[in-house]
Amino acid sequence: MRIDAITLFPEWLLEIERYGVVGRGLREGRLSLAAWNPRDYTAHPTRRVDDRPYGGGPGMVMQNRPLVATLDAIVAARGDSGRAPVLLMSPQGERFDQRWAERLAAGPGFVLVCGRYEGIDQRFIDRHVDAEISAGDMVLSGGELPAMMIIDAVARLIDGVLGDARSAAEDSFVETILDHPHYTRPPDEADGRVPDVLLSGDHARIARWREKQALGRTWLRRPDLLDRIELDSSQQALLAEFIAEYADCTPRP
Ligand code: SAH
Repeated sequence: MRIDAITLFPEWLLEIERYGVVGRGLREGRLSLAAWNPRDYTAHPTRRVDDRPYGGGPGMVMQNRPLVATLDAIVAARGDSGRAPVLLMSPQGERFDQRWAERLAAGPGFVLVCGRYEGIDQRFIDRHVDAEISAGDMVLSGGELPAMMIIDAVARLIDGVLGDARSAAEDSFVETILDHPHYTRPPDEADGRVPDVLLSGDHARIARWREKQALGRTWLRRPDLLDRIELDSSQQALLAEFIAEYADCTPRP
C-alpha cells in the first residue's frame, strides 16, 4: 500500500510518521507515504502556485498546471498509472466514513490532494480527480487535516499496524454499531467503580454486557445506524433490556 499526498505543507503531513501505531506502521514499511509539494513543480521564479480567481472575488485559487505536474511525477514514481484513485479533500465531497476507509485499505493505495486558499482550479478536478472526500460539514483552511485523518483511518486497517488485529475488528462501525465503553485499572476511584461484571472473569457475561452496551449506545446516540441493520433476536432482547433499564434510571418529568 502506497499513499501519496499533494500538499503545500509536506513536512506537516509527514509528522504523522512520528506518532503512535500509524507512525510505527509507516516506519516499519507496512505502508508507505510520500508528500509532494506543487511548489517543486512550478516553472514560476518565486515558486508561486496560486493566482486570483477569474470573475473576481476574494482569495486565491491553486493553479492547475503545478498540480498536474506534481501528479505526473507521482504517477511516474508509483509506476501504476491509472490504478491509484486521486482523491481531493473538499467540503463539497462525499463524507468520509469507515466504509471508505475499508474500501481504500483493500486497494493498492491512492493519491490525496490537499487544497488551500479558496480551493483549486476546477479543470484539475474535472480531468484528474476521481472522487472528492469531505471530513465533515465545516470549512477548514486546508486539506491536510482531512488527508491525515484518511491516512490514519486506512493505515490502522493494514495488517500489522495495530498491535492486536482484534482491536480493529471490534471498533465502532465495523459491525455498523458503536463500540461499548472501556475501563482500565484501578477498579475503584473517587470518580466511580468499574461495573462488577467486567471484574467477574465470566467471559460469556462480559461479552453479553458489552454487546448490550454497544447496542444501547447506538440506540441513544446514533439511532440512524440501527435503521440500517437487522438485529437478530438475541440482539433485540439485549437492546430491549437496555432500554428498560435506561427508562428506570432516567427521571421522569
Ligand atoms: N471555497 C471552498 C473551501 C476552501 S477551503 C468551498 O467553499 O468549498 C480550502 C481547502 O481546504 C479546500 O480546497 C479543501 O482541500 C480543504 N477543506 C476545507 N474544508 C474541508 C472539509 N470539510 N473536508 C475536506 N477538505 C476540506
